[in-house]
Parts: sequence; C-alpha cells; structure tokens
Amino acid sequence: MIKVNNLEKASEFEVFDELVKNEHEQVVFCNDNETGLKAIIGIHNTVLGPALGGTRMWNYKSDAEALTDVLRLARGMTYKAAISGLNLGGGKAVIIGDADKLKNEKFLRRFGRFIESLNGKYVTAEDVNMSPEDMEFISRETKHVTGLSESIGGGGDPSPVTAYGVYVGMKASAKKAYGSDSLKGKRIAVQGVGHVGMYLLEYLVKEDVELFVSDFNLDRAYDAASKFGAKTVGLDEIYDLDVDIYSPNALGATINDDTMKRLKCQIIAGGANNQLDDEKIHGKMLIDRGIVYAPDFLINAGGLINVGIDYLGGWNKEKVYKKTERIYQTTLDILNLSENKGISTQDAAMSLATKRIADFAEIK
Ligand code: NAD
Repeated sequence: MIKVNNLEKASEFEVFDELVKNEHEQVVFCNDNETGLKAIIGIHNTVLGPALGGTRMWNYKSDAEALTDVLRLARGMTYKAAISGLNLGGGKAVIIGDADKLKNEKFLRRFGRFIESLNGKYVTAEDVNMSPEDMEFISRETKHVTGLSESIGGGGDPSPVTAYGVYVGMKASAKKAYGSDSLKGKRIAVQGVGHVGMYLLEYLVKEDVELFVSDFNLDRAYDAASKFGAKTVGLDEIYDLDVDIYSPNALGATINDDTMKRLKCQIIAGGANNQLDDEKIHGKMLIDRGIVYAPDFLINAGGLINVGIDYLGGWNKEKVYKKTERIYQTTLDILNLSENKGISTQDAAMSLATKRIADFAEIK
C-alpha cells in the first residue's frame, strides 16, 4: 500500500519515496484554471514501449487519493502489457472531479494537449467515466490516444475482447484443475454482468453450463437471467454458493480474509482488476486451499491487446482475437510454473512479466 496520506502535508521526499519503492519513472501534474482541469499522468515503466493506459475520471476525496490511484494503476499496466507480449509500457491518467459537471470538448482537448506535450511517452485510452467519444475530442489535440470508435477507424469497445480473454483463461484453468478444458456441466457464478460479464455469459452459455449471476443493478441481473437462463443470487450470497467456478467481473479485492473462508469453488477466473485483497497473503491461501486462480491482470488483458494493437498499427479483429487467444497457453504456463515452484499463481505471473521487461532492457 502506498502510504502518502495527505499530499498537502507530505514532503517532497515522501512522494519520491513512493516513486522509488515501485520504480515509477515520471509523474505529471496537469492544471488548467480556465476549464478546471486537474489531472495526474503516471508513467511507471517505458522499457518495452510507450506507457499505455486509460484515463479515469473520478471525484477523488483528495489529491493524495488521486495520486495513490494513478501510481497503483500505472504499475499494473506495466505488468499487464508485459505478460501479454505487447511492446508497451505501463501508465495511467486520472482526472479529478465530477465527470457530469466538468467534461466538455474544451476540457478534454486541453487534457489532450498535456498528453501531446509528452511526445508519445504516454498514450491514453478510455477508463471509468471516459467514453470513445471523449477520446475523439482528445484525438483532436494529440495522436497519442487509442480506443476510438470503430466508426471512425478505431478498435472500438474493448469489453468483448476482454471477455474472450477471461473465457480462454477460464478454460485453461479448467484444463489444469480437471484435466479437460470443457466447461460442460460446470456450475459457474458470475459476479457483475456489466460490459465484460455479459459478453462472458455469451461464451459460457454455449458450453452447457449452470449459471448463477449477481449484480448490484438488478435490471442487469434479471436481463442476464432471462437471456442466458441463469439463476440470480444475492450480492453477498454469491460467495457461499456450491459452485465449481467463481468469476468476479465487478469489484476488486473480493478474494479476502472473509471470502476465503466461504468460497467452495475449485477455480477463480474473472475480469475484475485487483481481485486479491492482499497479493501475498491471499495468493498463498489460494494455493493452500487448492483453488486454481487465473491471475486477473493476465486473463483480463484482451481489452489492452485491442487498444494496444490499435495504437501500434495494423489493427484488425482477427489479429486481436488471435493474440488474445494466447492467454490460454500463458495461463497454463503460469499455473504449471506455480505448481513446479510452489509459488502463488500471482507470483508466477509477476515473475514472467518482470523477466520479459528485464530481458528487453538488456537487449536495449
Ligand atoms: P461495468 O461497469 O460495465 O460492469 C460492472 C458491473 O458490476 C455493473 O453491472 C455493476 O452494477 C456491477 N456491480 C457493482 N458492484 C457489484 C457488486 N457488489 N456485486 C455484483 N455486481 C456489482 O464494468 P466492466 O467494463 O464490465 O468491467 C468489469 C470489471 O472488469 C472491472 O473491475 C474492470 O476494471 C475490469 N476490466 C474491464 C475491462 C473492459 O474491457 N471493460 C478490461 C479489463 C478489466
């Protein structure tokens, strides 16, 4: 955890302590009085290539909270790109404030100019509270933006690709756990049926599985139930179900001290980011409980693969899905490495990602 609690009180040294600890390369604070734009761009690592990561707009309680978030997210992108075999680094941006009140063309174009000033070291895309239309405004000021709509030549919605990666990651996990990657007859609990969850259900239903869904938004849960023949379950009830596979596609940190005592599944494979509340403690607990955990940053990388190929050039659907399909083999490699070395699957995935960056740095 980053321990910068209050930026106003934190000395310069404490902020740099955080950058040093996780080896962040650069942080850029952007301010524009006229539009009220306040943004932070975090660049974690550019060894493999330009730092690509979406822009999140959020009403952060404090500047420190925004800084903490951008540093954590930027670092995550480094390893996600590395494990996915993309020649991209890790970065992220956060805009502080209420998206409904502040966002307009001028505001977004001003932000685009800040991105342009980094000369391609950071490349943005959409994230929470940012849309492909917003990317279009940003693109009027900089070419270092991706995730534009298909109608204007971009790679379009990344969610279906993310869902495909989660699906193949789940199948690889089944191969490890059961000796066959068929999901036929499996009882699967899907938490969150938003963009990723809904597309994931489309794949799962074809395998003749028994589906359980939960969503904070009851309309979505009922919609998923009627479309895919799933049974709706309560937000908390989902952790106690007698299922084979738990697939978190809503929130982070759902694998924690409480749920570890309750989950009865043999596999966890989902699209949500940062599923382990504590990477070390819960990564190890999963091994001890014999639960096959497909690392989130590996199997939810389809969306990044989509925007990454779009930015690097030569985007087409077939190429994107082919690269995303490799998640199947990488998942198996990581599960085997974890078993052979007696380390958590999270640690195994991190070791492969870190090694790729180190090898690349040597060649450079
Ligand atoms: P989304 O907002 O479209 O869907 C999330 C769904 O989860 C919503 O329907 C929401 O109502 C529901 N939800 C919220 N709290 C819940 C709870 N306590 N229990 C059950 N449901 C709850 O988001 P998304 O784009 O589908 O992304 C889902 C997750 O996957 C997020 O963690 C996101 O960061 C991650 N992710 C998404 C992509 C992508 O391409 N969209 C890529 C990588 C990672």
